[in-house]
Amino acid sequence: MAVAIDGSMCTACGDCESVCPTTSIFPHKGVFAVKEETCTECDGESDFPKCMEACMDDCISYVEN
Ligand code: SF4
Ligand code: SF4
Repeated sequence: MAVAIDGSMCTACGDCESVCPTTSIFPHKGVFAVKEETCTECDGESDFPKCMEACMDDCISYVEN
């Protein structure tokens, strides 16, 4: 249960990092990435992942398990 950032689309604006309730988003290789181990898909916080809501460039998607 996690989301992932497509680094080829990320503009490194940082908007997703500040809204993550589990601090799972971190700077990585010049863009941002998601720690899959701690991402909860915002379960219990929001009906929709807050980072996806924040990303104007649509670079965040659900990870298929
Ligand atoms: S889905 Fe929620 S918990 Fe996961 S990275 Fe995005 S904001 Fe953080
Ligand atoms: S909000 Fe989108 S473009 Fe901005 S850092 Fe996050 S994933 Fe990258």
